Amino acid sequence: MNSAEKDFHSLGVTRQFINAMEDMGYEEPTEIQVKAIPRLLAGQDLIGIAQTGTGKTAAFVVPMLQRLKYASIDIPRAIILEPTKELVIQTESMVRKLMAYTDLRAVAIYGGAAIKSQRQALEDGVDIIVASPGRFMELYLSGHLKTKKLEVLVLDEADRLMDMGFMPQLRSFLEVIPVKRQNMLFSATFGEKVESLSSEFLEFPTRVEVSPQASTADTIEQRLYHLPNFKTKLFFIERLLNAEDMPRVLIFCRTKDRADRVFRFLERKVEGEVRVIHSNKGQNTRINAFRAFQEGEVRVLVATDVSARGIDVALVSHVVNLDIPRTIIDYTHRIGRTGRAKNQGVAISFADPSEMFYIKKIQVLIQMQIPLLKAPKDLEVMDFLPREERELAMELDRQKKLADPTFKGAFHERKSVLKRKGLL
Ligand code: AMP
Repeated sequence: MNSAEKDFHSLGVTRQFINAMEDMGYEEPTEIQVKAIPRLLAGQDLIGIAQTGTGKTAAFVVPMLQRLKYASIDIPRAIILEPTKELVIQTESMVRKLMAYTDLRAVAIYGGAAIKSQRQALEDGVDIIVASPGRFMELYLSGHLKTKKLEVLVLDEADRLMDMGFMPQLRSFLEVIPVKRQNMLFSATFGEKVESLSSEFLEFPTRVEVSPQASTADTIEQRLYHLPNFKTKLFFIERLLNAEDMPRVLIFCRTKDRADRVFRFLERKVEGEVRVIHSNKGQNTRINAFRAFQEGEVRVLVATDVSARGIDVALVSHVVNLDIPRTIIDYTHRIGRTGRAKNQGVAISFADPSEMFYIKKIQVLIQMQIPLLKAPKDLEVMDFLPREERELAMELDRQKKLADPTFKGAFHERKSVLKRKGLL
């Protein structure tokens, strides 16, 4: 027995799944797998507090598959709910790999793709469904998705599922499915909402947790640069991409428009293929870009938070926060895409003066200072985009007002001067 076999075997995993994991290159179980797999195999309900990047998907998929064993009745016995279609696609592909040595059948159910073929797949017979809530409810309410034989229910990224406003609908669904089932809830955070959800739908759950702080610091090298504006950020990322060894880079931008600009600029300026994914792009374009990136054909993928949710690529060498996320938990989601499992990754953040406000909050969240590096002296400071300077001033004012409600704001002063002069 090699060490992978020994480790996974001692957790109770059977041969066909150990083989599948060996094919995927897993050499030893991750922390969440060590903690969750034996409990799930014992049939317990489980709350797992773990972020993407920890190996949590295999932690719940393997015990689920092992319980289902082989294809039997044609209606689903396990459902995994995911907040976005990207996560659905990602998880379903993981399920497929892990069930390679079984005859189990899985189908991905998500919006934005033809419902007809999903309906057909359900009619053909299926054991496992990986679904996003909207399309799932649609098929459930129209009677195409049968739930009376459901044995396993997984709510993955439960914090995000709850944020999406599907809970009232999901609740009505959860109330009518068989009560004798195994429930698993995974979430990056364990706030009040998730806690109350778990107390409603899990029976005497065991809670296992892996700390995000430790894994962030251990496997991801973080760097921060102060840069004055968007164009300077563009020129700096171009320079980094041309100077440093950055084989697989995921760049995050705040908006679709900024993502497009970054894409158009880098496409002409750097070696290797560059692609962009955001919610304006067609479903197929996004899936193709994502696959090509995963397979190493694309060097640089430019994304927004929404479009990248659930992207799971094992060897992202660098995550670049070209813009700092204003929803600060997204910082950990973003940088969780690098330094996956055992690979050291680098997360580089560019902050303009208005973004330092968010950096400070992020540092509280991750309980560490992100090392601040000096931009090279010869990096040219570029002009602001139209309206950019004004927006930056307004944002700084807004932040100062948050800290001090009596603050009138430099921007407003300027506005009143302009008004007086009859210019506004
Ligand atoms: P997840 O947290 O489920 O998104 O998984 C993060 C990444 O780690 C995925 O690329 C998995 O394929 C990979 N992974 C999961 N478990 C292991 C393991 N035991 N050894 C190596 N890689 C793993």
